[in-house]
Amino acid sequence: MDRKRPNAAERGYDTKWQKARAGYLLKHPRCAMPGCDNPATVVDHRIPHRGDQKLFWEKNNWQPLCEHCHAKRKQIQENRPLSVEAEKRRNPFIPAPRIPVTIVCGPAGAGKSTYVRNNAGPRDLVIDLDEIRAALSGGRLHAYAPEFLADALDERNRLLASLATDTTHERAWFIVSAPTQAERDLWASKLKAKVVLLDTPLDECERRIRADYSRIGETDRMIRLAADWWGKHQADIDLDARGRGDVLTFPKRSLTGARRRSRKFSVEFKKIRKESLI
Ligand SMILES: [Zn+2]
Repeated sequence: MDRKRPNAAERGYDTKWQKARAGYLLKHPRCAMPGCDNPATVVDHRIPHRGDQKLFWEKNNWQPLCEHCHAKRKQIQENRPLSVEAEKRRNPFIPAPRIPVTIVCGPAGAGKSTYVRNNAGPRDLVIDLDEIRAALSGGRLHAYAPEFLADALDERNRLLASLATDTTHERAWFIVSAPTQAERDLWASKLKAKVVLLDTPLDECERRIRADYSRIGETDRMIRLAADWWGKHQADIDLDARGRGDVLTFPKRSLTGARRRSRKFSVEFKKIRKESLI
């Protein structure tokens, strides 16, 4: 135990806080972690306040959590997560879900979340890595939080696996970028799911990313992610049209406009591969 750690009252958890906390939990009775619907018992500071009174009392920095999710967040904040096993996490074993699943694929800015919002019923579960990562990191939805990726993937995989025994939701929606047919097929067979592909053109994705205020500060990175998706997607289509297996057999000069673009994107893609969302 750390004897130097100030007691609860000294850290700001006094009567005023107890009152504010109780009032907040009355208004926000359920845990805010995606996929968790436990009663909230903890008011968590999204950004650790570390004694900063402004951060401490700023309600936008509060979120209601259950004991379990709060403990998980604390654990993540204290131990820097490992990232070496990320690949395994990206392609996990998932037992067959017992409720119908729809996979919604497409680039950043394609409108995947909007599509799900417009089609999901009140008893449906939405599984979205970005949302999980935002909840774990306490950041904004599209903030770049690479240190939370491994844990977000674990949490996403746990939710996907929970569909096998799910008796509370009617349907599930799984949001994943999956730019290639192979990736979409893989997820579709794992989850016995149907796939909705939102192949919104890159310029439209870019327009939407720029217009979406929640992505302020992340605009360039989101646009690169969209370009990355289109690069992989277009290369996949090209590959399919030529027959799989004979990659890079065409001479450079004969590249069509589209293929030139897809080449440019794959260069772009290599640069940002590390921060790719999926
Ligand atoms: Zn919870």
